[in-house]
Amino acid sequence: MSSQTQYFIELGDVLALRFKCKHCETIVSLPMSAKDKRMEMLGACPNCNEPWLLSCNVSIVPAVAELTAALLKLTAIIQERDKSPDTGVSLMLEVKHDETRATSR
Ligand SMILES: [Zn+2]
Repeated sequence: MSSQTQYFIELGDVLALRFKCKHCETIVSLPMSAKDKRMEMLGACPNCNEPWLLSCNVSIVPAVAELTAALLKLTAIIQERDKSPDTGVSLMLEVKHDETRATSR
């Protein structure tokens, strides 16, 4: 017999986006609840000034802004819809859990 454990999180359980500079290991956490998020500050590491880029030298800023906006929008929609629990659909993110890579930082 084999078994498998799957891990899911609700969108409302996403508390922050966490960034770790691969150059100097500085960690930046952007709370989902933060007012007036200053996404442009994510263009480079606040410690070593290394640019934080996606492939092709594209800044992470637009993608992070879109991700954050989409998460907040979907969370609000789902929370509003959950007031009528017998309608609609539930939405959760399935996440990988690797105990060898788990970190408490
Ligand atoms: Zn850095």
